[in-house]
Amino acid sequence: MRRLPLLVDPHGREHRDLRISLTDHCNLRCTYCMPEQGVPWLPKATLLALPELLAIAEVAVGAGISEIRLTGGEPLLRRDIVEIVAGLAALSGPAGRPEVSMTTNGIGLAKLAGALAEAGLARVNVSLDTLRPDRFVQLARRDRLADTLAGIEASLAAGLGPLKLNTVLMRGINTDEAVDLLRHALGIGAELRFIEQMPLDAGHTWTREGMVTADETQSLLASAFDLRALPGRGAAPAERFEVRPVGSPDAEPLGTVGIIASVTRPFCGNCDRLRLTADGQLRNCLFATGETDLRTPLRSGASDEELTALIHENLAAKLPGHGINDPDFLQPRRPMSAIGG
Ligand code: SAM
Ligand code: SF4
Repeated sequence: MRRLPLLVDPHGREHRDLRISLTDHCNLRCTYCMPEQGVPWLPKATLLALPELLAIAEVAVGAGISEIRLTGGEPLLRRDIVEIVAGLAALSGPAGRPEVSMTTNGIGLAKLAGALAEAGLARVNVSLDTLRPDRFVQLARRDRLADTLAGIEASLAAGLGPLKLNTVLMRGINTDEAVDLLRHALGIGAELRFIEQMPLDAGHTWTREGMVTADETQSLLASAFDLRALPGRGAAPAERFEVRPVGSPDAEPLGTVGIIASVTRPFCGNCDRLRLTADGQLRNCLFATGETDLRTPLRSGASDEELTALIHENLAAKLPGHGINDPDFLQPRRPMSAIGG
């Protein structure tokens, strides 16, 4: 087992969570994430192969990373996804074996959930913005709601839990489904998390006025549910609430709901996340404008110590906050699909 210096940034935040984007490709085209056409794909030769990915992850886990979240683009599009999960789950560091989880649109999970669970995947977050097939086509530009729902079912059957569902609300498009989506999640024993839309779309169409805020989401839910804040958030992006039927304060909770208010209630002060892009660039924030190239040194034979030094260099430049609300905020060059959410 390796013992390398822990990942503490200049603001005292210890980093334990590594998000790895496995590909920038996707089988959907969600309007808030990717344009319909003309996506500038990462050159194939720059994508990290399985051994390269594992080599970087091993160094990170040795330095104290204890949670690895696979994302993309759509991580299930990687043909070697089961091998990737198995390789990552077998790593070991000061905190023991990392917990490996995945954020996915669920398409493909119907086939893969069992094998992924066996390979060591602990749990999944599945994105679900609507329960209506016609609206799914409008939002994701593909007719795949049935595949997503089948994937959700399969992940429950495979024990990939606790299951979380991610929803981005968009005004006038799916806000009228906020209550139905939460009811659906509670019905299958999942935790729904409403994510505020962030300025990370490839088309640069985000506007502050257009996004649905956490306050609005809470008002929408208040028509049917009573939300009671849960303490002990730690470094988690989601504020979590117990959910009861409206007007029944003494009832048993029906479950929980999360709200990720990255724009209106930033939670940077407790951030413990680093991000590795599919082409081997380390980012210390979703909104970072700089990256540290790990791919080129790795391919030139850098030692574990040299790679660790590069990770620390990246961390040393981490800002205290994402700056979305600053007047001089600049949207990062990479869209969400190429960073990894
Ligand atoms: N394809 C997978 C999926 O959709 O779950 C994984 C990658 S996706 C980039 C990860 C998460 O980011 C999804 O839950 C998606 O809804 C969210 N997301 C994408 N673009 C976003 C944006 N502009 N603002 C907020 N969340 C966004
Ligand atoms: Fe694909 Fe996920 Fe982006 Fe939708 S949010 S386009 S599923 S990467």
